Amino acid sequence: MSYRVFARQYRPKKFDEVIGQHHVTKTLAYALLKKNFAQAYLFSGPRGVGKTTVARVFAKTLNCKTKGPANACGTCPACLALDQGSFLDYEEIDGASYRGIDQIREIGEKLQYVSVSGLYRVFVIDEVHMLTQEAFNAMLKFLEEPPAHVVFILCTTESMKIPLTVRSRCQHFRFKLLEIDKIIGQLQNICHKENLKVDDDALMTLARHATGSLRDAENMLEQALAYSGGSSLSGKTARSALSESELSVKLDFMRNLKDEKLAANLTLIHQLEKDGFSFSIFLHELVLMLSAFVYLKAGIQERFTLELSKEEFVAYKELLSFFSLGDIYRLQDILFQFIQEIKNSTETRTLTLLSLIKLSRYKKLITAEEIRENLLFFSKMTAMGEPSHIPPSSVPAESPQHASTQHASSEILQKNTSASASTLAPKMPATDSDSTQKNMSLKSIRKQWNQPQQASQTPSKNEYFSEIDKHVSKVFGDSKIVR
Ligand SMILES: [Zn+2]
Repeated sequence: MSYRVFARQYRPKKFDEVIGQHHVTKTLAYALLKKNFAQAYLFSGPRGVGKTTVARVFAKTLNCKTKGPANACGTCPACLALDQGSFLDYEEIDGASYRGIDQIREIGEKLQYVSVSGLYRVFVIDEVHMLTQEAFNAMLKFLEEPPAHVVFILCTTESMKIPLTVRSRCQHFRFKLLEIDKIIGQLQNICHKENLKVDDDALMTLARHATGSLRDAENMLEQALAYSGGSSLSGKTARSALSESELSVKLDFMRNLKDEKLAANLTLIHQLEKDGFSFSIFLHELVLMLSAFVYLKAGIQERFTLELSKEEFVAYKELLSFFSLGDIYRLQDILFQFIQEIKNSTETRTLTLLSLIKLSRYKKLITAEEIRENLLFFSKMTAMGEPSHIPPSSVPAESPQHASTQHASSEILQKNTSASASTLAPKMPATDSDSTQKNMSLKSIRKQWNQPQQASQTPSKNEYFSEIDKHVSKVFGDSKIVR
């Protein structure tokens, strides 16, 4: 027997073998059991999640004369013929290359013929959204009133492109992306049957790259095994086969950022390029890492939710303590900006260098949100006729190591806050120390800030903007506003 790829070899043959689409298979099996199934179905969902597989299983169960309560027998002539792809009453049409009105008319002409098996003829049109408008119109009539022995199953990855007139004539099932634990479970099942040794790190790496598509995961497993040249696979080899940088490289990059070692990161990126890795892909990997950091900071410890292998989980948790939530937010902001910019630029190298410099200065950057908060604060203070002070909320209460290296705005802001304390001092109750005085001032600012403003105190528009401009340049300084 010739070699078949895993995705075909381990393709489900019965409803209860289909993974992750229980809401679809349960409904279809019950409809078949009760013999009240529809004659036109629309299966929509992402690639590689089992749409055509379920269509095939449905056709098999429909035509199996010796089926059980919900599953085809798998051994009768109809079941065997469908498994081998030789069942005459089952036709799978590629909507991408068979998309015109003439082709749809051809299908219409076939409908008059009874089934060879004596039961049902099933027409599956894959990628149906690729049909022309005329083809869809030609399909409407027989989709609404097909002969009693005909069932249509339309499959698509883009259901919104299907005309409403077609959609409304079908029972619509939405297929879901598979959860990572279900993908890993299926890969483990294949490894067990094929006697393969694939470690946890490799399975997680493959499943994560598959982004919810089981077919992609199975194909990547084969690809990585071919790359390893044997029957075993480690996480390191899997990453290499999928052009993902090594975990240690990502960890080194983040440590260099933390220690403000720009030169070390430039060297690291240079080495990545020499090894044939793409910097933009590397940045995508960093985005995923930072997303995992956010989940960990929020207290989520489930490895499968985080999509991390054991090795990654331990390493990330160790590194996490060096970054505050604000740091992570700033780094993600820079990375997303870079990813957007690089799409429309031919100056990859320059952009890479700029983004590296920006990343290395993440502690000094001010986010747009922080600027907005400060502007709001200034406007409030100006409206109250008070001298400008620093909003307490703009001085983040972060981790100890972060506090010592707070970004530039906070440093300046803190200075101003101290200075403002003396300005406000006469209005504050007497205190014993400067620090208490400062805290009292901040409390006072907060209190005043939260009080409703009197209409008479509101400055004119020009006064308002002039005051804001003055305070912004006073506090941030031209060179301090990085973004
Ligand atoms: Zn059968």
